[in-house]
Amino acid sequence: MWQDARRDDADQRCGRGPLLSGVLSLLLQLTPGPVLLPPRGPHVCEPLMAARLDLRRPDLRGHTVLVLHAHPDDESIFTGITLRRLADAGARTVLVVATAGELGESRVPLRVGETIPERRIAELERSAELLGVSRLVLLGRRDSGLPGWASASHARALAVADPVRLARTVAEIADDESAGTLVHDDEHGIYGHPDHRATHRIGATAAVLVGAAGYRMTVDREHLHVSARDRHLVHGAARSAQVAFGRVTAEISLAVGGSARELACKRAAITAHESQVDPDAVPVDGFADAYGYEWYRRTGAPGVLDALGNAHLLAGACSHASTSGALVGT
Ligand SMILES: [Zn+2]
Repeated sequence: MWQDARRDDADQRCGRGPLLSGVLSLLLQLTPGPVLLPPRGPHVCEPLMAARLDLRRPDLRGHTVLVLHAHPDDESIFTGITLRRLADAGARTVLVVATAGELGESRVPLRVGETIPERRIAELERSAELLGVSRLVLLGRRDSGLPGWASASHARALAVADPVRLARTVAEIADDESAGTLVHDDEHGIYGHPDHRATHRIGATAAVLVGAAGYRMTVDREHLHVSARDRHLVHGAARSAQVAFGRVTAEISLAVGGSARELACKRAAITAHESQVDPDAVPVDGFADAYGYEWYRRTGAPGVLDALGNAHLLAGACSHASTSGALVGT
């Protein structure tokens, strides 16, 4: 089912443009290769609730967006609507996940001989299918766990990996795909998880390497405080990490909203991660209040994600909320 990206890409690389240097290509040959998962076909989701937003449906054929995440389930929780809407608009979406979420117990029984990483990758594949992902790539690093955990010092832990080396791997994927937009964690790693902070450094550096527009994902903690107090999965995650989470409203550039169908797809993708997420933790009742928007801080001018429509409270008045575009954040 899996392919080795280095072998696969070597066959496809002959005709691609010289956006990255020969030195970089050599370095990539020395980097542990990501694992490719096959593209999936279209999937139909039943509407979850009545539509409440007038949403744009731009024609994004010819655009490719690379979305980088730390763990399986992040793609559904933080970018599920965005991925679904990009796919529906005709964009090619490339989902890159840095780890297999190896740590912790499974909340459901595993099959005989099945490991937790195998289960979580299978769940990720299902989620990617529901969200219309065109290509899924695993970087093969290990979950680092929360701050202070011994797992963070594991030789393969994402938190101790060389971010520049991994950024070059991600940049190579973006280059092969001609991805003009990269989506990744913001400087705070949404809720301070070491792996999310690592994917910020990797994604921000990769975006600069390929000259792509950057969108840094976060959550609007003021919005959640009003609409879904203690009812978003990030609330529990931040409590476990004993850190603050997200951003205040004025720091956010873009909010992507979802229709009833898109919210249904997002919830289905989240609950596809059944080894990690209890469906009762994301009830249908009130789901839109907690998960109806996805928030970003943009680097530079509005790009492909803005074409989906900006549902942010301060849309049109928050150009100051764009980030500086620095190579690596604080
Ligand atoms: Zn995560």
